This record gives sequence, C-alpha cells and structure tokens, in this order.
Amino acid sequence: MAENNNFIYDIIDEDINSGKYRADEIHTRFPPEPNGYLHIGHCKALIIDFGTAAKYGGKCNLRMDDTNPAKEDTEYVDAIKEDIHWLGFDWDDRFFYGSDYFERTYQIAEEFIKKGLAYVCELTRDEFKSCRGDLTHPAKSPYRDRPVEESLDLFRRMKNGEFPEGKYTLRAKIDLASGNFNMRDPVLYRIRYIDHHRQGKKWCIFPMYDFAHPIQDAIEGITHSLCSLEYEDHRPLYNWVVENAGFDKKPIQREFARLNITNTVLSKRKLRYLVENGIVDGWDDPRMPTLCGLRRRGYTAASILDFIGRIGVAKSNSMVDMGLLEHCIREELNMTAQRRIAVLHPIKVVVDNYPEGKTEWFDVSNNPNDVNAGTRKVPFTRELYIDSDDFAEVPPPKFFRMKPDGEVRLMGAYIVKCGEIVKNPDDTVAEIHCTADLETGNGNPADGRKIKGTIHWLSAEHAISRDIVMYDKLFTRENMNDLTSAESTDDAEETQTSIDDVSYMDFYNPDSALKITGAKLEPSLADAKVGDKFQFVRTGYFTVDSRDTSVFNRTVGLKDSFKI
Ligand code: ATP
Ligand code: MG
Repeated sequence: MAENNNFIYDIIDEDINSGKYRADEIHTRFPPEPNGYLHIGHCKALIIDFGTAAKYGGKCNLRMDDTNPAKEDTEYVDAIKEDIHWLGFDWDDRFFYGSDYFERTYQIAEEFIKKGLAYVCELTRDEFKSCRGDLTHPAKSPYRDRPVEESLDLFRRMKNGEFPEGKYTLRAKIDLASGNFNMRDPVLYRIRYIDHHRQGKKWCIFPMYDFAHPIQDAIEGITHSLCSLEYEDHRPLYNWVVENAGFDKKPIQREFARLNITNTVLSKRKLRYLVENGIVDGWDDPRMPTLCGLRRRGYTAASILDFIGRIGVAKSNSMVDMGLLEHCIREELNMTAQRRIAVLHPIKVVVDNYPEGKTEWFDVSNNPNDVNAGTRKVPFTRELYIDSDDFAEVPPPKFFRMKPDGEVRLMGAYIVKCGEIVKNPDDTVAEIHCTADLETGNGNPADGRKIKGTIHWLSAEHAISRDIVMYDKLFTRENMNDLTSAESTDDAEETQTSIDDVSYMDFYNPDSALKITGAKLEPSLADAKVGDKFQFVRTGYFTVDSRDTSVFNRTVGLKDSFKI
C-alpha cells in the first residue's frame, strides 16, 4: 500500500508500545457475508485487514459471516476466495465460517440469561418498534423482568422449534434509557425457519450480527476488529458482549470510512438487483464495481491496490471520483500495454496510385514508453480503412485529419491527399479516393511542407473484424448515496424494504454499454487471449472479454476525466 501511516496503525503502535501485544500477535479478520460478490468497497476493507496484519507480521483470518441464513451460497464463498487471491492476499489455514460458532454462541446466550443479562421478549415486530422510545423517552420492555428460569426455558424451546417465527426474541438487558439506541435492550437471537447453507435445518434460531460478531472475534483471538464507520454506534454493544462473555483476550473494534465512488452503487443488495433483473450481464458485467467486473473490464490487481492506497484510510466518509480509479489503470496501462491499431467505425480508402496486389510492411512501435517493447510490422495495401471520425467532408476549423483536398499522414506510412468521395445512395460515404506521396514514403516531405494531422489506418485485405463494447458510467448521477437510507446492521430485513429500489434505478445509464459490431482490427489481434490488454492507438485501452473472446471490452479511454 502507498499509505505509510494511518490512524489504525497509530492505535496498534500504541498497543505494542504499551506492551499489550507483540507486533506478531496483531490479528485481524476480514468478515464478508457470502451473499454476493466482493465490490471495491469490500476491497478497501480487506486491504486494510490483510495489509495491517502484514505490516506487523501478524495474521488475518478470512471468515465468512454467515450467521444470517438468508441468501447465502457457496458460489459466493468460492468467488470471494478467488477475488482475495487475485489481489494477492492469503489466509493460509485461517479460513472460518461464523456459523461454526453457533453452538458456542448459543451457550454464551444461555450464560447471559443465567446471569440476568438477557431475557426472552414477546413483543411483536411492530410493538417492538413502538416501544423503542425516543431521545427524551426511554424504551419500554414489558418482559424485561421475566424470571431467569422462564427465559431459559423459553429460549431452549425457541431453539427446539416449538414457536413460529417472530413469536419470541432473546434480548440483552442493558439500558432502556441509553442515548445509544443499540444499547436499549437489543435483540440477540430471533427465530428463522430457513435452511442454512452449511447447517441445514440444525438451527431455527440465529444470533444477530451484534451478538455473534464480537464472540467470533474473541474465539479466533482477533486483537483488532476493523470495520466501516456505520458500525461505530455499535461499538459499545460490541464491548458489552465481549466484556460479559468472559473471554480472557478482548478484541477491540475500530472503524474506518466507508468507500463511496461516484456514478455507482456499493451495496450488494442493489448490485444483486441489477443481476437478478437482467439489467447487467451477471456479477462480472464489466460495468459492475465488483472485483470480478473490474477484472473483466481490464483492471489489474495492481491498479486497484494503487487506488486504495491513494484514497487512504480516513475516519470520515467521503465520495471518491471514479476518475481516480480510471486514472490508476490508465497510468499503469500507458506504461505496460502494447499498442495496436483498431478502426472502430471503418470507411474504405482507396489509394489510387498504389499498385493493386502489392503489400508493404511498415514498422510501428509496440509501446513508445517501453524501450524493450520493440516494433512490429503492419501491412500497407491499396485499399485501407480509416475511422469515419477522422474524415470530415465539411471540416470544422482546425480539423487536420482527412478532408477534401487535404493532406494527412497515415501513421507510420505515407502522406495521402484526399480526392474523389464516392457516396452511397443514402448520401453516406462509400469510399474515399486518395493519392499517396510515394516519393516521401514515411519520412518528411523534401519540399518542407508541413503535414499537421496523423491518423491511424489498416489494410482492408488484412484487417480482422471484431465486436467492441464501449463501457461507460453505470449511473448518470454522481452521488448515488444520498438516495439511500443508512444501512442498518441490527435489522437487515428492515433495511431491505426501506430503500426504494426504483429511485436509484431511475439513474441507470442506458448508454453504459454500447456495442460496436464489425470494428476492424490489426491481424495480430486474432491471437489475443483473455487477460491481454492493449492500447488501441488514439482510442483507449481494451481487453479481451473473458466470456466471449471475439469481443474486446473498453477498460478506459485515453484521457483523464478529472484533475489528479
Ligand atoms: P453491502 O452493503 O455491500 O452489503 P456489507 O457491509 O453488508 O456490504 P459485508 O460482506 O458484511 O458487506 O462486509 C464485509 C466487510 O466489508 C465489513 O467489514 C464492512 O465493514 C466492509 N465494507 C463493506 N462495504 C464497504 C465499503 N463501501 N467501504 C469500506 N468497507 C466496506
Ligand atoms: Mg453486512
């Protein structure tokens, strides 16, 4: 990481200096919920988790946070592992599932009941809400003083499946008047009759995140539990659980800013909506901010690590310009990507004074930024393609490309002068006739005349045809965040219904994937493999699509859209 210092390191340094931990005892975890693919926001979190452990010579666990049984799937587990490996991190044998601790978590819940720290409540969902109180009124909880024996019996029967969903919950007994609503006797367990992807039907009661997570951290010996800022208000509850569960070693939770990026959404739920409704072509659609989407788009792991390093680890949330991420890959590919020629919107050019059947081979640079990249030969013939954008029949001022009676350099080859323009019946250009300055060749004219424009071209006879997809912003609105209510961690279902899916879909960009069929490409691109990345000269950076290798995806254009 580019970052040398941040507030998390300061906290850990203090713990080391005070003798609380040795550096190699620093132990973090990355706890993704396997209900979707990792997006670049998770990427920030996992780089902090794995990167912090690496910095101190400590350890980082990978833990699937699968305590909530809904929508979890092994497909996601495998994809999460693949993405983390792709970024260059590993967890050795420290791979865990939160659900592996269900038994222990249950035992701790029973202990809490016995110690008078938890009770079984039978308020309905709506009653619970209306009893929550407000800043000036404490919450009401009519079942708070239920005798320990009764709570214990009910809790066991909840576990045994004797009650329907919603009939009872287990609640912590903390402080109904707390200014922090998370401390107003939060729910610890609820009844859910859903098969768990690993536990099957074994459990019908499931712990809430706020109860399960600190216990999982403590069991694994995590020293620093790092998470995004929305968990800050949950920290007192985290501490309360750790304190009362009687663990010798007590992990601490610290929070960093959540990553937000312009013109996209970083929420698995919203991303899943796009996938499930066929709006995008899967989780790895190249427009998606998922790691697999970015990879298919042509991003490298190095460019993503660079990006996360540049934004740094701060304590307040902010919105990062997508242009910065694009800048990171552009900067890398500018140095590493081989140059190739592609004509996206071809028009035929006939060089009238060039012999039919003749082929000449001109040397062109593979990468002017890399002396070792060498050159390659491209064929020149009488019939060529140029891009229709490089021709103007009625040229605007300062148009130095091909125009009637004008001269232009064909990159690395001849200067040509535009002659007759042949039209189709619909008045579009069918072909352009030119005369080449065969005397000058690819050098400078002896008479000293200046040729201002250079355009790229391909031999019509040699070019191959491919489809190209030009990707753009997924959403037209810069800040997609203020459309959503804050994510709540203690009541997942509530969050799911309170956000209006339609409101953010109003800003879906219908032009976010424009397919160009029949683009003309240099013949050497016929052998391009998945993962190969090129600069198509004067056009942008492109990569072979991993699902359909006859398609090239545009990673980014050539120019920065904002100032670094
Ligand atoms: P989502 O809202 O996309 O569903 P989540 O927080 O529910 O995200 P988890 O799988 O629970 O997803 O997250 C794993 C870790 O990633 C958590 O520690 C969380 O703090 C962190 N994380 C998730 N989104 C971001 C983000 N945008 N920026 C930074 N960290 C994030
Ligand atoms: Mg979550």
